Amino acid sequence: MPVSLYNTMSRKKEVFEPLVPSTARLYCCGPTVYNYAHIGNLRTYVFEDILHRVLEFNGFKVMHVMNITDVGHMTSDADDGDDKMQTAALRENKSPWEIAKFYEDAFFLDTSRLNIIKPQVTPRATEHVVEMIELIQRLEANGYTYVTTEGVYFDTSRNDDYGKLARLQLENQRTGRNEVVADETKRNPSDFVLWFLNKPTHIMKWESPWGPGYPGWHIECSAMSIKYLGETFDIHCGGVDHIPVHHTNEIAQSECATHAPFVKYWMHGEFLLMNGGKLSKSKLTQQTNDQRPKISTLQTMIDAGYDPLSYRYLCLQAHYRSELNFSLEALDASTAGLRKVYSLRPETDPLAGDAEAYQTARRRVLDAMNDDLGVPQAVGILNSYGSYSLWAEFDAVVGIDFVKRAKTTDVELPAEVLELIAKRNEARKTRQWAASDALRDQLIGMGYEVGDGAQGTTVKSRSL
Ligand code: AMP
Ligand code: ZN
Repeated sequence: MPVSLYNTMSRKKEVFEPLVPSTARLYCCGPTVYNYAHIGNLRTYVFEDILHRVLEFNGFKVMHVMNITDVGHMTSDADDGDDKMQTAALRENKSPWEIAKFYEDAFFLDTSRLNIIKPQVTPRATEHVVEMIELIQRLEANGYTYVTTEGVYFDTSRNDDYGKLARLQLENQRTGRNEVVADETKRNPSDFVLWFLNKPTHIMKWESPWGPGYPGWHIECSAMSIKYLGETFDIHCGGVDHIPVHHTNEIAQSECATHAPFVKYWMHGEFLLMNGGKLSKSKLTQQTNDQRPKISTLQTMIDAGYDPLSYRYLCLQAHYRSELNFSLEALDASTAGLRKVYSLRPETDPLAGDAEAYQTARRRVLDAMNDDLGVPQAVGILNSYGSYSLWAEFDAVVGIDFVKRAKTTDVELPAEVLELIAKRNEARKTRQWAASDALRDQLIGMGYEVGDGAQGTTVKSRSL
């Protein structure tokens, strides 16, 4: 089965056919590095990692680019409020560059702990200001911009298909009475800033043809994706919150600058919810009166004794286009499920020696994965077979370090083994050596190494 993916633009599943055969050019909106990523953000990166791995499993060479937003993302996704980097710098009494470096490192530590493959290119916005200025100049030359005291704007009224991704009704937006127009120099509420001007208190500033200032958030993704992947590329991802503003604006400015279609497939991950509500990066430090640990970042999860891969495994239980309600109960269940997977052993592989059955099983798992990343179904099928070799092969997609962990994870001892151990301890206490030896041989015959420790008989499965 070929890989099919749900395209937000067409609202349909489509067979993935890259522009250049066998190469998948993938751009994912990266973190704004003004605080730790919360586990909701990380869910989106797990989804993108699964996409990367499924494409690779199917033989595509994946060129994966993910930006680091270290300037220009305002406290609202539109242009209102302050630059998040600047706010964090003032909060922590550091320079915005120090803030960016610190949280970028923290981000990549989190993603590596979740076995997320690092994209080949992870460009920082502040290092691509020249490319952004060039793109704005192209838009200016094509007649899509105007300049006010506040900045250089993109004029959405000049872009006929503005809002096509989100299927926005621009007329409603332009005349929408509820719209709070924070910036009165804008011609239309949906217009957005390409370059901010006249912001004397902003720390990060660059020279530009329009005066000193700093870039808007949306232009960075257009400039960096075009630089590394070309004017038209295959897949662009992000969370669903990016559909109406950020990705809508990326499409408008990219296509109006290049006159080429920007992206072939748009993919969006649904949100992780906590207690039925949204998580917020700006509220990461808030505490509750709850007795159980409050988990908001991966580090808080680790501090509460959880394995990061339990969280990865939990993310795989829900389809990326469904909301996922996070709870400690769900994380506990995922931990137990993962332990069960790690307890599989090659000696007891039900598919061992049956090549045909293996191929049938393999096809079922792959078909599920290739059907718009049906990983929850694929994991269900893997669990229904309980086959060591099948898990070992598909760990290339699932990414739970299966072979390594299966070797080192203690398997809970079956009741009959525990019973034999108890009997042997009793026999040794009462000096019945022959009985003790017979029980030892019985355990060895069941595949265990038997020793004598301070607490009595110890056993270890020889396959561990
Ligand atoms: P940010 O660092 O705030 O720019 O967000 C990074 C990524 O996380 C973006 O792709 C967002 O769409 C995504 N995101 C934000 N909140 C959530 C959430 N609660 N669940 C899943 N993804 C999220
Ligand atoms: Zn972006």
